[in-house]
Amino acid sequence: MSQIWNFSSGPATLPRMVLEKISSELMSWDNKGISVLEMSHRSNYFADICYEAEKDLRDLLNLSSDYAVIFSHAGGHAANSFIPMNLIERTSKRNADFIVSGHWSDVSFRESKKYGNVRVIADNNSLYSKNGNLYNPRRWMPSLETWDFSKVSSYVYLCSNETIDGIEFCEWPNLLDYSVDSELVVDASSNLLTRPMFIEKVGIIFACAQKNLGIAGLTLVIIKKDLLGFYSSICPSSFNYTNLAKTNSLYSTPPIFAIYVAGLMFKWLKFKGGLQSVAEENYQKSETIYNYIDSTDFYNNNVETSVRSKVNIPFVLHDACLNDIFLSEAEESGFINLNGHRSVGGMRASIYNSMPMSAVQSLINYMREFERVYG
Ligand SMILES: *Cc1c(COP(=O)(O)O)cnc(C)c1O
Repeated sequence: MSQIWNFSSGPATLPRMVLEKISSELMSWDNKGISVLEMSHRSNYFADICYEAEKDLRDLLNLSSDYAVIFSHAGGHAANSFIPMNLIERTSKRNADFIVSGHWSDVSFRESKKYGNVRVIADNNSLYSKNGNLYNPRRWMPSLETWDFSKVSSYVYLCSNETIDGIEFCEWPNLLDYSVDSELVVDASSNLLTRPMFIEKVGIIFACAQKNLGIAGLTLVIIKKDLLGFYSSICPSSFNYTNLAKTNSLYSTPPIFAIYVAGLMFKWLKFKGGLQSVAEENYQKSETIYNYIDSTDFYNNNVETSVRSKVNIPFVLHDACLNDIFLSEAEESGFINLNGHRSVGGMRASIYNSMPMSAVQSLINYMREFERVYG
């Protein structure tokens, strides 16, 4: 079979080494004669898997013991309900501030309305000009000085990488510097572990696993231990972070196989030299694509340069009539899932940790050849 490169935004491509490891021990984990697929979540084997996964994650993020690590179910959308149910009671006003910078934070904001008094304190839903360039709505990031914080709120919510819009934001505020009594909550579903991050600035950071942490079915939640205990009475016990932290994520049967795969991903990241080294690689990969796109009028990515995502690169063709041909010829050449999200159209190349530079270079060769033929 010829080489296929999967540029899907998630579930996303996995490192070959990880797939080979899964394949080699699928029938018998660690030569114990039992598959992870049939393992009890109360067994010592699974306790070892969980322990190693958490330890490696803590090493990678340099995570202090002030934070609890929770392996939960249900994915990114579900966190939009479980975050308020776990944290909105932190203040008597039951209020939260939202930075709406694209599709995912908008979805979070609208879902969270069901659970508390939420307010948008900054958004990018208008035209914006900088250095003589004009940016469309959802193609830039409102600067921190303009965020209209409430003095007191249960939390301030932001999405560190808008997977669909291709906006990445990592200059998180230290809320104390703004005299704000609140806690930062970050949806890092598509960029957790793609670069070092200031975890000590956040109260909660979470990510669904199918982008960078392995396979669907697992949501990783990292929560400051001080924030346990603020759950609403309606919060389901299975998604109550206080309960999950207390039971080491074993209140109910956790997503065993997904946790096992996440553990292998963490080992692979350590093998690659950790987050600083993958961040450099992700920078090189994304710069290679942006530089090429910027060098021609045939393709365009209209995201303000300083907040361009290193891992999700949306782009459009100068002539949208060529979209279908671009995608079908890409597929014939082995580049799959390059279509943009159905809500925005166009193209998108997702190049998480697992996508090697060689694949990025092959993609650019394809794009260049396509331009030569159709440009
Ligand atoms: C993918 C994604 C989600 C949604 O995740 P599901 O597991 O499909 O519910 C939420 N937020 C961000 C930033 C994402 O990239």
